[in-house]
Amino acid sequence: MSESEDGDLDVVVVGAGPNGLAAAVTLARAGLRVGVFERATRPGGGASTAELTLPGFAHDVCSAVHPLALESPFFRAFELDRRIALVRPGISFGHPLDGGVAAIAHRDLDRTAAGLGRDGAAYARLIGPLARRASEVAEITGGPLLRVPSHPWTAALLGVATAEQGTPAWNLRFRSDAAPALLSGVSAHAILPLPTLAAAGAGLALTAYAHARGWPIPLGGSQAIIDALVRDLEAHGGRLVLGHDVTRLSDLPPARVRLLDITPRALLAMAGDELPEGYRRRLARFRYGQGAAKVDFALSAPVPWRSAELREAPTLHLGGTRAEIAAGEREVARGRHPHSPYVLVSQPSIVDPSRAPSGGHTLWTYTHVPAGSTQDRAEAVIGQIERFAPGFRDTILAVSSRTAVDLEHHNPNYPGGDIAAGAADVRQLLARPVLSATPWRTPVPGLYLCSSSTSPGPGVHGLAGWHAARTALRDEFGITTDPDLSFAG
Ligand SMILES: Cc1cc2nc3c(=O)[nH]c(=O)nc-3n(C[C@H](O)[C@H](O)[C@H](O)COP(=O)(O)OP(=O)(O)OC[C@H]3O[C@@H](n4cnc5c(N)ncnc54)[C@H](O)[C@@H]3O)c2cc1C
Repeated sequence: MSESEDGDLDVVVVGAGPNGLAAAVTLARAGLRVGVFERATRPGGGASTAELTLPGFAHDVCSAVHPLALESPFFRAFELDRRIALVRPGISFGHPLDGGVAAIAHRDLDRTAAGLGRDGAAYARLIGPLARRASEVAEITGGPLLRVPSHPWTAALLGVATAEQGTPAWNLRFRSDAAPALLSGVSAHAILPLPTLAAAGAGLALTAYAHARGWPIPLGGSQAIIDALVRDLEAHGGRLVLGHDVTRLSDLPPARVRLLDITPRALLAMAGDELPEGYRRRLARFRYGQGAAKVDFALSAPVPWRSAELREAPTLHLGGTRAEIAAGEREVARGRHPHSPYVLVSQPSIVDPSRAPSGGHTLWTYTHVPAGSTQDRAEAVIGQIERFAPGFRDTILAVSSRTAVDLEHHNPNYPGGDIAAGAADVRQLLARPVLSATPWRTPVPGLYLCSSSTSPGPGVHGLAGWHAARTALRDEFGITTDPDLSFAG
């Protein structure tokens, strides 16, 4: 964007992650002149794709698993599924256990229950009512908790299930290992000790989506989602400026509204003196969570999982039984690297051959580590995969390993490697980043936060950006009707 064009903006957005772009698209669709300033040389933030290992191997740099690509109210309004190719595998996720067996979450709930033996019926009774109302679950969890829920009956069902799975009562309904392990593998996405209410709520919602429209894989990688957002932004007059690191708000071109896809910590550094003292104190109290270490592989062959069904599961949770995963997550919360780590795995090339040269495969993994960890976890991850897929090591062509601190250097929205941009525990789901029904609004007129440090929290769903933009449209422009975001074709 040229200097003269800068002067014409109604809205400036800092950060081209999924939330910054969701905000920018929503505002551009309302007819406003929008400029997005991004420090990286590519848009995408936590949803980009790049050749991290060898030429021709396309790796998702951060997110790979997209349970909300079909269920997020923002992506539904944006009609993401009409804009990009989303593969909807029959298996949403798998969970290996020792002895060559695995629990499998098929999209089909009955088939899943049939595979869970004597716990199948108990699993179906827990998840079935939520899966049948998956879109309502997404609406309830997709905004601030401090509001009257839009679907009270579904909210009550989710609340009761969360109270069971988020407390020491979590095993009462189960009699064997597979079903509880399957649920804990999903709850552990929250990077919190288990059992806890916030982890259980997140896990139950994600499991409901798994048995509703499934966990889709974007053809070409997460970048496809970002490219669709950028295309729409530019088609509606919005501008994207790359390689522009904003260090002071005062450096931004003048605009009536500023939306920031950054953490509260970054806002304090960027604009501390513009913010009232009380709000500064509240932002300074916002806590960041434990970290992640990311390990990506280029492979010469698919992973030789002992359980054949896992060879068809795009997403897997490793770490063994529920008790073992809980013990590992407890270690992380105490500041230690677990001996047997929880590992989130995605093997996208089994459904998307474009991710690797012919015959090759890409494998995406991350594992939880204490905040600020500088430990390379490649060997720990390889060890955990070998446990369930002996011979895996022989398929490795190249490895890209990034510590928690490397993730923060890559993107300041992940302080200490906290990929949730703020601990997503109950307190901080209620007050994200502050206790308010409109937590995106700051006390400074025209200034909004829109990152995953705001409600509804982490994930590629665009909801924080969408809510922030709709709040700004109401506050600053008196626009109370949501802009049409649909795909014109
Ligand atoms: C390793 C990893 C794995 C993940 N896996 C998943 C997953 O599988 N599924 C899922 O749903 N979510 C996953 N997530 C989380 C998900 O990526 C984030 O929750 C999501 O990207 C948040 O979107 P955002 O727009 O709020 O922030 P980000 O995506 O972090 O984007 C913020 C953008 O702002 C830019 N920026 C920051 N500061 C400045 C500045 N001062 N000036 C200019 N630009 C700036 C950054 O460069 C970045 O592009 C993962 C994250 C990581 C790191």
